Amino acid sequence: MVISEHLTLAELIRSESAKRNGIANMPPPEHIANLKLLAEHIFEPIRANFRCPIIISSGYRSKELNAVIGGSNTSQHSLGQAIDIDMDSTTYDVTNADVFNFIKDKLPFDQLIWEFGNILNPFWVHVSYSDRHRRQILKATKINGSTQYKTY
Ligand SMILES: [Zn+2]
Repeated sequence: MVISEHLTLAELIRSESAKRNGIANMPPPEHIANLKLLAEHIFEPIRANFRCPIIISSGYRSKELNAVIGGSNTSQHSLGQAIDIDMDSTTYDVTNADVFNFIKDKLPFDQLIWEFGNILNPFWVHVSYSDRHRRQILKATKINGSTQYKTY
């Protein structure tokens, strides 16, 4: 199924944890609709700006999958409103920091998170789109093994 010009549903629901646990991870129609809005307002503008494939390391997570991986039960990933982007494994001249800064400066996101890493580059970028448009920007760090979120 095509979600937008450069994005398929397969890229959004792929999950090794889902496979290992026999979870279909298939979004219902209302979550597909959210994924389409996310693709239109966030993913495709990033793709158009950098003109290269944009790698989604985690997209949709059904409630069942989220429970198995111990994710937050209010996660926007479970509504089809959030994706994680990770360009580290690619050979394109685009860093996670480049993606983060482009979203921060140009796009109508709801929440944007610099996920761990260091001051130069996050390990990945979490971005969500919803009708709330909070423009909340956070930085995630590990402190004594637990995740802490601070205002960016
Ligand atoms: Zn995320």
